[in-house]
Order: sequence, then C-alpha cells, then structure tokens
Amino acid sequence: MDNLNGAKPHFVLVPLLAQGHMIPMVDMARLLASRGATVSFVTTPVNAARIKPVIDGASDAGLPIRFVEFKLPCEEAGVPEGCESFDLLPSVDFYKPLFEAIIMLREPLKLYLEQAKPRASCMVTDYCNWWTSEVARELNIARLVFHGPSCFYLLSSRNIHRSKVYERVADEHECVVVPGLPQRIEITRAQAPGWLADWKEMQGRVMEAEEAAAGVLINTFQELESEHIALYIESTKKMVLPIGPLSLYNKDAKSKATRGDKPSVEEHQILRWLDSMGPRSVLFVSFGSLVKMRPLQLIEVGCALEASGRPFVWVIKEAEKCAEVEKWMSEGFEERTRARSLVITGWAPQVVILSHRAVGGFMTHCGWNSILEAISSGVPMITWPHFADQFLNERLVVEVLRIGVGVGIKIPVFHPEEDRVEVERGAIESAIASLMDGGEEGDERRTRARELGEKACKAMAEGGSSYGNMTLLIQFAMEQAHNGIAD
Ligand code: UDP
Repeated sequence: MDNLNGAKPHFVLVPLLAQGHMIPMVDMARLLASRGATVSFVTTPVNAARIKPVIDGASDAGLPIRFVEFKLPCEEAGVPEGCESFDLLPSVDFYKPLFEAIIMLREPLKLYLEQAKPRASCMVTDYCNWWTSEVARELNIARLVFHGPSCFYLLSSRNIHRSKVYERVADEHECVVVPGLPQRIEITRAQAPGWLADWKEMQGRVMEAEEAAAGVLINTFQELESEHIALYIESTKKMVLPIGPLSLYNKDAKSKATRGDKPSVEEHQILRWLDSMGPRSVLFVSFGSLVKMRPLQLIEVGCALEASGRPFVWVIKEAEKCAEVEKWMSEGFEERTRARSLVITGWAPQVVILSHRAVGGFMTHCGWNSILEAISSGVPMITWPHFADQFLNERLVVEVLRIGVGVGIKIPVFHPEEDRVEVERGAIESAIASLMDGGEEGDERRTRARELGEKACKAMAEGGSSYGNMTLLIQFAMEQAHNGIAD
C-alpha cells in the first residue's frame, strides 16, 4: 500500500454496463484500493450479483471499495427486466433503450456525490457515459475518461474523423490509408465506421465530454504502443495515462476465475484438463461477451477445429446454443474430438485459460480486453474481428505487433439476421495451422508475443510504466481533493 501521508483520495468509478467495459474497471477499482485509495464503484443489482465473489473478496481483503448499487430504470426505458448489461439483451434493438436507462442514473449519481463522505476527489467514467461530464461540472469534481480500446484505435479513429478521409470515398468497402500513423495502415469505412457512427447525437456528446475531461486513462501500456500514445497525447493535448494491462491485477486462480461472471465450468476442472495437455499445444477459441455466432458459422468453426487435429478449448455462449448445433455435436463431433477437446457452454474463466502454459494460441474476435489478456500471457492470436474497434485492433496485432494471423474476414458482421457462413472451414483451418505449427515465421511470432508478455508484466510491477502512471493518477486525485478543481 502506498504511503499517502494520511490523505486518502476518493475515486468514484462509473463504468458502462457492458462486460468489456465493467471488467477492466473492476480491476482498476481493486488496484486503486490496494494502493490506499478509497473507491466507490457504481453498479446495478444484476451486475453486482454477477460479480458477488469479487465484492466478497474485496471485503475479505479489507479493500476500501464501496459497490454502490443504483436501481436501473429498465421499465421506464423499455429494457426487458433484468437485462442490465449489453450482453444480457435479447437483441441489438435494445441497445439504445439500455443507453437511455443508463443516462437516467444521472440523478442518483448526483445525489450520491452530494452526500459522499469523504467528498469525491476524482471521477473516472467510461467514455460512453458522456452525461457524467455534466454531473462533474455541476458539482465541481474532476473527471477523467476511461477508454477500453487500444490507443492505436483511439488515434486512428480520431485521425480518420478529423481528416474527413472517408468523405473522399464513395464505397464503404474501399480502402483508405489511416492518416497520421507511423505505419501505413489501410481500413474501410465499413470496418471502422467510428464509434456510434449511426447515432450522431450521442457521438457528438461523447466527443464533447471527452474534450471537457481533465485527462484520459487507457487500458494499455507504454511499451506496447509508445508511438501511438505519443501521437495521441500530441493530438489531444491532455494528460494521458496508460495504466494496463489491468487484468494483471489478478494474480491467483480464484481472482482470475471470478472476473465478469460465474464460470459455467469449475476452474479446477479446466485446470486439470489443461494440465494434461502439452505445453503450448492447445488452441483457445472464444469471441468475447457480445458476438453471437449463428448456427452454420458455429458448426463451420467446429469442423475446422476437428480437421486441425489439435487440442482445443471452445467457448460457446448460452445464446448461441440451439437444437441445430446440439444435434450436430451429438452426431459424431463430440465423440471424435473427445480426447482433445473441452467445450465450455456459457461463461468461461478466460484469464485462467489464457495464462495456462498449455495454451499456445487464441482465436479471438479482437475485443481489446481479450487481446491484452492474450498479450499479458504471451499468447499469439488468430484474429477474427466482427465490429466496433475490432478491425483496427486486428491491424495492430497482425501488421504492427506481428503477433497474429488473420482469418481473412473483410466485411463486418454485426448480429446478422441471416444464418450463413462468413468464413469457411478451410480458411479457419489454414489460420490454425499457420499459428500453431512451428516453422521460422511461427517461432518468431511466438517469441515476439512472449517478449511482449514479459514487458506487460514489468509495466504493471512496482517500478514499471503503468505502475508509475497509477501513482500519477493517485497524486492527481489528491491534488484535486486539496484544490477543489473541477474538469
Ligand atoms: N470474458 C470471459 N469469459 C467469457 C467471455 C468473455 O471472462 O466467456 C471476458 C474476457 O476475458 C474479457 C471480456 O470478457 O475480459 C470481454 O471483453 P472484450 O473487450 O474482449 O470483448 P467484448 O465482450 O467487449 O466484445
């Protein structure tokens, strides 16, 4: 615990209610508290129930974190009762209502802040929670924005937006060169339309709120994206603190296993299975919390995994499982792959799996948390982006860091109505072979991934770059508490 000379800053964390946004902020809360700060973490009943082991663990460890539960006005906003996170929504049609319900937390948050003791010294709010900017201004509390995605993505989208480069191409599938990057990176408007591009009003508010913030926290580390971080600071002219990979806060198996939700298979069962596999022999296949594959594509993945002949852990979401997939699995797939497969239906303890020595590759949808978790464990990737920041993250992994092999998808897929195969088994199988086989190229890729993993661990350890940035963050909050400065 840091020596804070008796003064304790009080951070109020306001995450977006989505797994990919909540999980790193829960890690941030525990990290700040373990370094002596007081933390209030805003959540809702359903989300709090999902992370109950984390809440209990923080309390048992004596970490000064208050998990503040606000009732989410689901009915008023037209959100199905109990669907308090984006991954719980029955369809994407409810995304907007859920955003609206979250905005209604504004008054309860304001009331909490008015009464909080000690007074909040600093708010850290998800960049999507633009409405917190007004609350911070009204109450004269400093506010920092937390960005989940890579700095490479933030810089690229900022440069694309400011240069209006998309306006020069009529076809959304035509490649443009992303301006202002140290590397030549091409992307299409369809692949990277810009966050909230379809919701212009909200996009404008998010940008204004970011401009108004006193600084930016990013879940990345200096050694991973140094050039992009420098350019982003130059462009935003803000205090930008890379403080990740936040997942490395979790050191023991229990802490790794309780992130986000309760795993549907006990972690010791998974560990026993992984222990029985050779080092770096297993491919881990998981597509985050939001991507939902249709049956035909899911079966195509299964066929490629079978044809690869390699051991694999494959995560299938509850919402993806259906009679068609179950029938196909029971008609030979399970039998033929039993000796070398572990299929997890539901929530998987991803960091437990990725950090096991038996895992040698990760097929991922390129969500930034997943990428950082793989990097932290030195695991190279097969990249299969679907939407949002994922195509730009793929460029970073494959073209800049050179620790991944693309599966070859060009057109984004965002919760398709139609059940069809976007990537065929042959393409998936050849990506698996190219990632998992030895050979000079594969070995070099694996070495680069391992070296980045070592750098990630160093960044988070005492004396490392992210550790130092966390110190700066705590000092910043203490100064705010002292001066009463707002954003
Ligand atoms: N995750 C997990 N188990 C699962 C699915 C996801 O632990 O079965 C975690 C994963 O480790 C990561 C987060 O959920 O921390 C997903 O975030 P990411 O940015 O990768 O993707 P998103 O879900 O936002 O698309």
